Amino acid sequence: MNTSNKKSRKELTLEAIVEGKKMEAYVEHRTKDMHVCWICGTIGYKKKPMKNIGNRWICIDCLKHLKEILDSLDQWEAEIQLEKEMSKKIDESLGV
Ligand SMILES: [Zn+2]
Repeated sequence: MNTSNKKSRKELTLEAIVEGKKMEAYVEHRTKDMHVCWICGTIGYKKKPMKNIGNRWICIDCLKHLKEILDSLDQWEAEIQLEKEMSKKIDESLGV
């Protein structure tokens, strides 16, 4: 009966420990490159472009979204202003 190919319990335990350590090192290595988008919560590795703003990270998708909002900010402000003026006029006409 040939049992030489069979690994002893001790060997298996050691292997499991080594694998565990490798995994730990891998996760640690990964974590360094890993950032979570502050806005959408997407986890980005090196593949997903992300920008560091302050101590937060924001992914490119959210940055694009933000840019769209910022680009239309003037228009948005104008709308808010218009609404304010309208409600003021309404208040005036009601004599409030
Ligand atoms: Zn995002």
